Amino acid sequence: MKVIVIGSGLGGLTLAHGLRRAGIDVAVYERDAASGRPQGVSLHVDERGRSALRACLPPAHFAMVEATTGGPREQTLTLSDVDGELVAEAGRARPGRQVHRPLLKAVLLTDLDDVVSFEAEFTRFEQRADGTVRVWFADGRTDTADVLVGADGIGSAVRRRYLPEVRVVDTGRRMIMGATPLRAVLGTGLPGLIGDNPASAQIRGTTIVVAVLRFTESPLSARRRWLPALSRTAAAEVEDYVMWALPVTQESLGAATVSRRAQELAMGLPSALRTVVGEAWPDVTVALRIGSIPPPEPWPASPVTLLGDAIHLAPGFGGNLAMQDARHLCEVLAEAHRGRLGLLDAIGVYEDTMRRNGFAAAKAGT
Ligand SMILES: Cc1cc2nc3c(=O)[nH]c(=O)nc-3n(C[C@H](O)[C@H](O)[C@H](O)COP(=O)(O)OP(=O)(O)OC[C@H]3O[C@@H](n4cnc5c(N)ncnc54)[C@H](O)[C@@H]3O)c2cc1C
Repeated sequence: MKVIVIGSGLGGLTLAHGLRRAGIDVAVYERDAASGRPQGVSLHVDERGRSALRACLPPAHFAMVEATTGGPREQTLTLSDVDGELVAEAGRARPGRQVHRPLLKAVLLTDLDDVVSFEAEFTRFEQRADGTVRVWFADGRTDTADVLVGADGIGSAVRRRYLPEVRVVDTGRRMIMGATPLRAVLGTGLPGLIGDNPASAQIRGTTIVVAVLRFTESPLSARRRWLPALSRTAAAEVEDYVMWALPVTQESLGAATVSRRAQELAMGLPSALRTVVGEAWPDVTVALRIGSIPPPEPWPASPVTLLGDAIHLAPGFGGNLAMQDARHLCEVLAEAHRGRLGLLDAIGVYEDTMRRNGFAAAKAGT
């Protein structure tokens, strides 16, 4: 069996590792260059994402991820300003750990040199009479496989061709996200107050979420121990930091204005939180549009399928859903590869589970 995966994001790469370990021929095609584009600095990984990584990655890759997460998180704390002092109270339970996203991506790319092709933009596909799928790329290249997986994110070109009725809706919500070196805010008392838990505050009309990522093991030492093939630069370019997010609505924010706007929004916050925003790395501050995908009616299974943000959007935990999809899809394709399940039955089973997990979770916001 051969599988073509479009997109080398969290879902596509998790799937590629799992398929390869199951003895299935896999080719990943990625539109961007190998250097990629910034997609946020940190990721809250819960049990859905963690168990998918454990199931799909080679043991050394998984050990590298585990060694470099932040400490365990139990809940989101609520911060308030009591007579000028920042106070933290227990809040909503949200177990998981924080992971440095560029490092996770570099781990996922390690040992896939012969699988991933960069600067390969998918444009269209055709289902052929013999059951295979032929795929075309912007530079004229083509490839053919038994299964095509669209793991190409929110703007998915595979989804647009395969399920053109499915639309991404702009919710009007925006999120400014940034990160600040921990050393710049140690004196504020905030890191000690919140520990490894994320914390949210709604103070004088401004909402902010903050979380500290303290690597449990230095990425360079974990690389030496677990994954020497990992790019040294990816492991060397990291230090402990605080990530933060400021939700806003309906604003049009360009790269030139986003840092200034974040500082304006933070002006009414207590000084510890103002410092977090004020000392941020400017090149990491980004404004994101929050979209959603209304759940479509179920469609019949075919050799073309979708995973992750390409088919369901869940701000704040979409990465976990993408990795969970990858794990389930890998499991059923492995069953089909061993002859225990027909290929279309396998894809149908995966899609039922994916719709149940993805759309229900996105609706519930968990
Ligand atoms: C700032 C930020 C913070 C976030 N925080 C969290 C968090 O804490 N926890 C969490 O679970 N989720 C979080 N998310 C959401 C999470 O990042 C996404 O849900 C996740 O990346 C989706 O993975 P994916 O594999 O489906 O798609 P992506 O990771 O978006 O990957 C899609 C890939 O497809 C490629 N591609 C697109 N079009 C083509 C084409 N035509 N041809 C070839 N390749 C193509 C893209 O270049 C990209 O590499 C966050 C997102 C952002 C932006």
